[in-house]
Order: sequence, then C-alpha cells, then structure tokens
Amino acid sequence: MDVIVGGEVDAYCTACKAMRLHNVIAMVATRPARVACRSCQGQHAYRARLPGEKAPRKSSSKPGAASTAAQVPTETFYARIAAGERDAVGYSPNDRYVVDAVIRHPTFGPGIVIALPKPQKVEVQFESGTKLLLHDRAATPMLNLQRPVPRPVVLPPIQDIPTEE
Ligand SMILES: [Zn+2]
Repeated sequence: MDVIVGGEVDAYCTACKAMRLHNVIAMVATRPARVACRSCQGQHAYRARLPGEKAPRKSSSKPGAASTAAQVPTETFYARIAAGERDAVGYSPNDRYVVDAVIRHPTFGPGIVIALPKPQKVEVQFESGTKLLLHDRAATPMLNLQRPVPRPVVLPPIQDIPTEE
C-alpha cells in the first residue's frame, strides 16, 4: 500500500486540529511531505499522527491499512471447526448432511458443509479447499446399496448319498 502523489492519506490537520483524510501533494522518498486537507482544503506539512502522540504501534499508522481481514475465510473456518468439532461426524457417503454440519473426512480432515448443490451432492469446505462429495446415498434404492438377499442354501438330497454295502 504505497502512498503516491495525489493519493489519500490519513494525517493530522494543523487547521482542523484533528486527524483528517488528506491528498498527498508532494513526497519525499516514500513518505508524504506535503498534504492537502480534504475537510478544510488547507495545505501543510504531513504529520502522521496527533501532536504528542507516541511512536506508532505496529501498523497503526499505515494509511488505509485494513483493520481486520474480513475476507479471509480461514479464521472463520477454524473458529467454526473448533466450535463444531465436538459434534463432528465421520464422513460417509451413505449419511445425509445438512448445511453447517461439521464432518471429519479420512483424507481431507475436518470440514464444514457449506451447500447442498444437488441431490446426493454435498459441498464441504476443508482446510485444503472446497470439495464436492457424495452423501445421502443410502436413501436411494436404485444405487444398489442394499444388502444382497441371501441365497437359499441348497443341500444335496439325502437319498443321493451313496451307501456302502
Ligand atoms: Zn483540515
């Protein structure tokens, strides 16, 4: 996030006597040297912080730095995994899942069901990415997952057993 001439920067305005958004007028090396206040249009030397304020803590003086990376899904992912891990069930294509269920896959590890895009397909977010898995297969007889009917055992007729004289 480099500051450029004409770019915006948060700075202390000597006229407003407060932190204001400024446009950069001039730069010295990589720092703004002269800025124009967007509130009062006054131009003055760049001051990164309020008078008397101590040196910046890490990243607090970076102009435009995002406060928290809300778009990063992993933090939410891990939080939800941690919250749901106790109730996590082992993944099986025969089981039926609902959105937000936490499951445990033998290969991909813990994951969260994020969508049911079509029948018997479940979209799961794992640490390594999103996977489309089978589920609910036990519900459909045409998938041949029923137990085979045991065949009757055929015994030889008893009268056919040869007897010795
Ligand atoms: Zn101002």
